[in-house]
Amino acid sequence: MARYTGAVCRLCRREGTKLFLKGAKCTSDRCPLEKRNFAPGQHGKDRKAKIVGYGLQLHEKQKAKRMYFTLEGQFRAYYEKASRAQGVTGELLIQQLERRLDNVAFRLGFAMSRRQARQVVRHGHVTVNGKKVNIPSFQVNVGDEIAIREAAKKMIIVEQAAQFAASNPVPAWLEANFENMSGRVLSLPGRKDVNLPVNEQLIVELYSK
Ligand code: SF4
Repeated sequence: MARYTGAVCRLCRREGTKLFLKGAKCTSDRCPLEKRNFAPGQHGKDRKAKIVGYGLQLHEKQKAKRMYFTLEGQFRAYYEKASRAQGVTGELLIQQLERRLDNVAFRLGFAMSRRQARQVVRHGHVTVNGKKVNIPSFQVNVGDEIAIREAAKKMIIVEQAAQFAASNPVPAWLEANFENMSGRVLSLPGRKDVNLPVNEQLIVELYSK
């Protein structure tokens, strides 16, 4: 399965915004964006022009895609599915991203970042309704019970994540049980439930050309 293996902080610097891919480091003064908020590369500092039009649409798409750590093909597939469904395309796009199992594991405090959550899921440490699911893009549904497997509860990254989770509120569409390291899907996420600094309408405009 293809995935991005480069330095993730470069992605934040490229987008000029925090994508929160490194857990606790992202909210500390060790975040490179605090000191070097300009694009990476030799001419990064020179790129100061205001982004408008197509560039802005592309920028919003890249931001969302990178925040959820998905690749272009999969991200576009989410858009295609959203555009065929009944409802507001942009909101349905965000909803699919939010319903990914790796994102839910992150939201429930099983990992400190979506990137780390992806790894926790891939390694088979997460169950859905009691069954192991190791597909990060798995879409959760209302009523699903998500949990960390017993053996994984002692893992250092999972323990650290549990402590980190205390400072991150759980969104209203999920219910978390931090003691058991489990959670439940109460409803499908609406746009207002997702704190995401992205203008999804610009992404829809980009793909619908
Ligand atoms: Fe982005 Fe986090 Fe790296 Fe800061 S520490 S640049 S927010 S990934």
